[in-house]
Amino acid sequence: GTLEETGSPPYKRRKGSSLNRCSTPTAKPAMTAKPTPTTAKSTHDTAELFTSAPDHGKTRKSLIAKTFKENTMIRIGLGYDLHTLVEGRPLILGGIHIPFEKGEAGHSDGDVLLHALADSLLGAACLGDIGKLFPPNDPQWKNADSRMLLKTVWERILTAGWQLENADCVIAIQKPKILPYREAIRRSIAEILSVEIDQIFVKAKTGEGVGIIGSGTAAAVWCTCLLSR
Ligand code: MG
Repeated sequence: GTLEETGSPPYKRRKGSSLNRCSTPTAKPAMTAKPTPTTAKSTHDTAELFTSAPDHGKTRKSLIAKTFKENTMIRIGLGYDLHTLVEGRPLILGGIHIPFEKGEAGHSDGDVLLHALADSLLGAACLGDIGKLFPPNDPQWKNADSRMLLKTVWERILTAGWQLENADCVIAIQKPKILPYREAIRRSIAEILSVEIDQIFVKAKTGEGVGIIGSGTAAAVWCTCLLSR
């Protein structure tokens, strides 16, 4: 039968590319972790995992879904943004004002972290991107509070039935040190999205003194997120 029918816990199959699964029908699961109570209903041998019909789309979805809840869909998002750093602008990251001699240039408040995060969430939900939703040439968004932009984005995503599993962000900025502000930034983002702080993580890297980041000319952020519904 298909994996959908076996109900076997997917995490027993560790090295499981679909290729591996189909080409090694007698392979044994590498892990022997016991199923959690929620997935303990298995009445079939796990070997069936490896002899499943090559229905790749269906099987792959099922393998992922069963680490969550039956039929849960999960989606990864990736967001990126870069703003130049200029004098006379506040440095705002994740809605937190960080004292510094320069800040992000931009049409809105320039919060490069929230912009990358918003794009990550929108990408996971296939609901567009912030450039499309909040065009930078629209005077409506001049000096806009990016927390509000993110909130608007997030409400759309929630309306589509998604919830956040986690988001992880990397800020590339030469100066200042972000670590002292990390918890405040995480808390701020968690509040905007109405999630727990442990669903949000943020870290910072310098540019090692080279390039557009290292010279302090710009700050960039990458965010990934996982949505489920
Ligand atoms: Mg931006």
